[in-house]
Amino acid sequence: MSSDGQGDGALVLLSGGQDSATCLAWALDRFDRVETIGFDYGQRHVVELDMRAHLREAMAAMKPAWAARLGEDHVLDLGLLGQISETALTRDTEIAMRDDGLPNTFVPGRNIVFLTFAATVAYRRGLRHIVGGMCETDYSGYPDCRDDTIKALQVALGLGMERRFVLDTPLMWRDKAATWHLAEALGGSPLVELIRSRTISCYLGMQRETEDWGPGCGDCPACHLRRKGYLAYRSDQQSLEAEN
Ligand code: ZN
Repeated sequence: MSSDGQGDGALVLLSGGQDSATCLAWALDRFDRVETIGFDYGQRHVVELDMRAHLREAMAAMKPAWAARLGEDHVLDLGLLGQISETALTRDTEIAMRDDGLPNTFVPGRNIVFLTFAATVAYRRGLRHIVGGMCETDYSGYPDCRDDTIKALQVALGLGMERRFVLDTPLMWRDKAATWHLAEALGGSPLVELIRSRTISCYLGMQRETEDWGPGCGDCPACHLRRKGYLAYRSDQQSLEAEN
């Protein structure tokens, strides 16, 4: 514990998708204390939230060190965000591209709201690091996933709360295939299999396992991204096996 009362622990934004699950393993590998936070904002894919408890338990069962580090889970009701945003993630409309090139699944300011609430919880819990799966390499173009947005927010939260928060985004410069490779490096094939079979990235929250890349509708932009990344990862693996 440092002089400002903050330990070197981490709060991980865990939605139940591939990226946030990988971030949880990344944090468990690094920090002595790891807590998780999830947000219920009326999203259509709320089924993601149901996967969280299973992911936490399964990762704790993988390594004794991870079990010792994993602490409390926090779930915040942010229904207000769903009420005030008209998007395909919170309304029953078809997912499409808007005229400005953003998908209509974009919930304006969502990550800014999430990280701000996460900082409020991290402040109270004495946690310095806030870990999120934001990525601007292989993504839907959401401006609040960009590295500059996160860095600006880190400065704003630090000033506004008079605490030195570190916003960690380990996936920022990794494409989806590299995110699978990271999972493999952190927890081997058991972690890859857990994330493949028990995380949902699908915007529609489809749980049916369509193909070998995991559950999803197979058609929405999130499913397309996930399929492409998983197939690229598998093909990397096959070339490695062929070399050896
Ligand atoms: Zn889908």
